[in-house]
Amino acid sequence: MLDKILIANRGEIALRILRACRELGIKTVAVHSTADGGLKHVLLADETVCIGPPQSSDSYLNMPALIAAAEVTDSVAIHPGYGFLSENADFAEIVEASGFVFIGPKAETIRLMGDKVSAIRAMKTAGVPCVPGSDGPLDDDTQRNARIAREIGYPVIIKASGGGGGRGMRVVHSEAALFNAISVTKTEAASAFGNDQVYMEKFLERPRHIEFQVLADNHGNAVHLGERDCSMQRRHQKVVEEAPAPGITAKQRERMGKRCVEACHRIGYRGAGTFEFLYQDNEFYFIEMNTRVQVEHPVTEMITDIDIVKMQLKIAAGEALPFSQSDIEIRGHAIECRINAEDPRTFMPSPGTVTQWHAPGGPGIRVDSHLYSGYAVPPYYDSLLGKLIAHGDSRETAVARMNMALQEIVVEGVRTNIPLHQEIFMHSAFRAGGTDIHYLEKRLGLK
Ligand code: ADP
Repeated sequence: MLDKILIANRGEIALRILRACRELGIKTVAVHSTADGGLKHVLLADETVCIGPPQSSDSYLNMPALIAAAEVTDSVAIHPGYGFLSENADFAEIVEASGFVFIGPKAETIRLMGDKVSAIRAMKTAGVPCVPGSDGPLDDDTQRNARIAREIGYPVIIKASGGGGGRGMRVVHSEAALFNAISVTKTEAASAFGNDQVYMEKFLERPRHIEFQVLADNHGNAVHLGERDCSMQRRHQKVVEEAPAPGITAKQRERMGKRCVEACHRIGYRGAGTFEFLYQDNEFYFIEMNTRVQVEHPVTEMITDIDIVKMQLKIAAGEALPFSQSDIEIRGHAIECRINAEDPRTFMPSPGTVTQWHAPGGPGIRVDSHLYSGYAVPPYYDSLLGKLIAHGDSRETAVARMNMALQEIVVEGVRTNIPLHQEIFMHSAFRAGGTDIHYLEKRLGLK
């Protein structure tokens, strides 16, 4: 096993990684900015290193500081978590060139899948169905772009090849708006992602977001752990996630899961990863792959009883997957609510000191959070305070348990989106299951 791991992240995922390390007897190094000395995992880690000032660019994105921290602590591996440098191929390369294990896929795989145009090409070659689109980047030829849009049929969506986090996308309803949308998206993409390449896809009007979790080792083995439904979104950001996806049959799961596993073999995938799809009229369309652990991984853990973060560590240590596809069983249903420090109506971030924290409990309830009473939520990072996860033998039980947990949970001192979750869980459409990606914004009167 790996002897000591540096956790190159913060918040709930850093704590989640620390816990997985502890279970496996791995020593931990927490790195933190000057604003984050009070983070729970920093208080619990075996060693800590302050890597810079609050701004992410000077701390959690500061590659030389991270490598230096790994060197002075004699760490053998670096876990990037999600966000920050987790999908940065240059970082993965530097980590390995410096003699450490990068807990994730090979740098070349991150590069291939990080660029959405090259990812879509790779998936098409692997036989994975994709959204009808421009089949490559758009150039400045307005005639050609107009023809592509007409062939696909309006509405279309212009997407940044290097985009992420729900940014760098623009929906276009007619040719009159097309050229301006392409040039604005290009300009935005250049400044936000350092890459002005954009492409065009059919804008699906009422899809669901369904994604498949995979695990692959260094010995040529790969499995899928079924799917998650992440359709409850605001501004292309997930709010509630669940597994399995309501209404998806075992046959559909097997068929798409198999395609994802085949794609893993084809691209030489290693570690945990997610194939994201839009699902409409019984068809799946690949949109992108995340080459890292995801925020919503716990719902899959609850229904498969497989610890995805521990598996990441074991794979990085060179172990073979201890199970094959036929060993993986899906039991019951799990739902996750992302708890953010934000105003439930305006969605404005709400940093500050948490004066009271009471975690809910009871059968089937899991809380992944770095909160404690007295913890000060800094204003510099994303507003995720933690995740509430409910598991039960059926979706109905999971929903009922989540409902109770949402009544029990107490967070005082900062505003949170808990009232929004309480409301979502009362909606009859959500209770029925299978709402599309536009449902929440329509319901909130934002569309
Ligand atoms: P990001 O990397 O920013 O997360 P994705 O490509 O994964 O971007 O898309 C994020 C979300 O944007 C999807 O879950 C969906 O809500 C919406 N979206 C993306 N592509 C399309 C499309 N072709 N049609 C409709 N909605 C889309």
